[in-house]
Amino acid sequence: MIERRKTNSVSVGSVTLGCDWPVVVQSMTKVATTDVDACVRQVEELTAAGCGLVRIAVPTKADTEAFAQIVNQVKVPLIADIHFSPARAIEAIEAGAAKIRLNPGNIKKHEDVVSIIEAAKAHGAAIRVGVNEASIRDLKSGDTSKDSRVELMLDEMKKYVAMFEEVNFDNMVLSAKSTDTVRTIEINRAIAETFGYPIHIGLTHAGLPVDARTPSAVAIGTLLAEGIGDTIRVSVAGNPVEEIRLGREILSALGLIEKSGPELIVCPTCGRCQIDVVKLAEDVRKTLQGIDKPVKVAVMGCIVNGPGEAVDADVAVCAAKGKGFIYAHGERIATVEESKLLEAIADEIEKL
Ligand code: SF4
Repeated sequence: MIERRKTNSVSVGSVTLGCDWPVVVQSMTKVATTDVDACVRQVEELTAAGCGLVRIAVPTKADTEAFAQIVNQVKVPLIADIHFSPARAIEAIEAGAAKIRLNPGNIKKHEDVVSIIEAAKAHGAAIRVGVNEASIRDLKSGDTSKDSRVELMLDEMKKYVAMFEEVNFDNMVLSAKSTDTVRTIEINRAIAETFGYPIHIGLTHAGLPVDARTPSAVAIGTLLAEGIGDTIRVSVAGNPVEEIRLGREILSALGLIEKSGPELIVCPTCGRCQIDVVKLAEDVRKTLQGIDKPVKVAVMGCIVNGPGEAVDADVAVCAAKGKGFIYAHGERIATVEESKLLEAIADEIEKL
């Protein structure tokens, strides 16, 4: 069991973030915000996939006007990404944003930050207070080498948090972003040691799904395993539903959410392999598509290590020469010709 780091609770509309609440997977819409119908559709697709908070970019006034319409058509709390504009922040809060993403370093005037905070207070909105490695890298003075950036990011975060606490605002989530896996882990550990606010974790600009999933799983997974992180985003270029799928896989692998769908265990294959395990596993995977029950299926290439895995699986096959042994809940129940194995496995899955 992972022991979550102690935090206070932060309300983001109907969702609460913090150690006493489940880790929330979030994502961002990737269609024009002014295309209200497309945006609502994407929010609904994300929600159906398990997204607990959806962020929407509002770079222009037309976007905050569209945002106001979108808020009224969806149930999930929305986060407004206001970029560098205090005006967009206040418009989005007044339009019903449950949270805004704000990097105080991007807002030139201190009084503008205070105005945003006052608007958030008045409307019960949360604020994600962000610091980004890119802005540290671009600092004009001091040592901004990679070795110094974690410390510099923490110093910036300390300044921001003090600014918010001075005006008695504590409904905030902290977020430090980097494209680097190790620095993401280090800065979030430092923030976790320094503050008691919930933390949003993710790598920024992670890449295409095939490139993004390993660095994101390492950074997010390492921190979550240490109890750090209350909401996560796996940033990938492409369909945002993929971000939710990957995020939920990380939570599931750590036991932070119940396994919601089938699990397919496949032996890595080796010289002992007796059948075409990969082909059979791919066919079994297709059979499992559309099943939303937590069914565990194992496809093993021989009877050396296969039965051990079969014990834990609901359905398993351990191959022998030209045939396979079918197991149900650890009991060997049938011996089947190789050509009939898929059918036999599918029948057992169906019975479950
Ligand atoms: S289950 Fe058998 S075939 Fe598969 S990797 Fe293990 S020893 Fe090799």
